[in-house]
Amino acid sequence: MTAMVDIRSVHKSFGSLEVLRGIDLEVRSGEVAVVLGPSGSGKSTLLRAINHLEKVDSGWISVGGSLVGYRRRGDRLYELREREILKQRTRIGFVFQNFNLFPHLTVLENIVEAPVSALRRPRKQVVGTAEALLARVGLADKASAYPRQLSGGQQQRVAIARALALEPELLLFDEPTSALDPELVGEVLDVIKDLAHQGTTMIVVTHEIGFAREVADTVVFMDGGRIVERGTPAEVLDSPRHERTKAFLSKVL
Ligand code: ADP
Ligand code: MG
Repeated sequence: MTAMVDIRSVHKSFGSLEVLRGIDLEVRSGEVAVVLGPSGSGKSTLLRAINHLEKVDSGWISVGGSLVGYRRRGDRLYELREREILKQRTRIGFVFQNFNLFPHLTVLENIVEAPVSALRRPRKQVVGTAEALLARVGLADKASAYPRQLSGGQQQRVAIARALALEPELLLFDEPTSALDPELVGEVLDVIKDLAHQGTTMIVVTHEIGFAREVADTVVFMDGGRIVERGTPAEVLDSPRHERTKAFLSKVL
């Protein structure tokens, strides 16, 4: 079976700084991969590359069998056009650290916007889906509120509902609870856990080790633009083999 996400020999530099130094990673359908690593190790750049927000310098990434950003013809790769990129991006849900909701739209409109404008789905049907998603993240009563009227945890739950509205085959989370007050972290992690238990394929960058232990199928430790170590939560969290993993875990545990 092909991997849902297949990343091969990916390199990416910003000027003279090589941020991804040969990343290889496979995530199977239904798998939850948690990515750990110190600040600056390239975690966000990797997620952004998977979602076309960064273009890689070499190597390739495929999601659900399609190459991200490229089309293969014979043995050559051709860059996708902007329209094709937008279409590919709708198959991947991305949840950011800072929620990134549209401040001028209500909660419901935040969720409805992309399926209607990007996927051209009938508005009435999308509104129904959005209401169901709001109920699923525990915010059925907030449909007509504006983001500023919600707590951080509520805003992040809206952002998750918004990502789900596109029925993505892959969900990417970049430190989804890092911007939250500690007492709001749990309600967001619970929603993500729920999705994980329902078989959603996801890659989650987080420092929440308890969450990783509970829901990850695979834990990946990145440092300096490389994957230093990967394995089950028990392997990586309880018996790390590399000094850099041990040093990192001793700081966050
Ligand atoms: P992490 O998410 O693990 O903290 P990032 O992927 O955000 O790491 O960043 C890795 C490195 O790349 C950092 O040194 C960061 O400063 C640098 N970087 C990230 N984005 C850019 C950019 N657009 N331009 C220049 N440098 C960048
Ligand atoms: Mg980051």
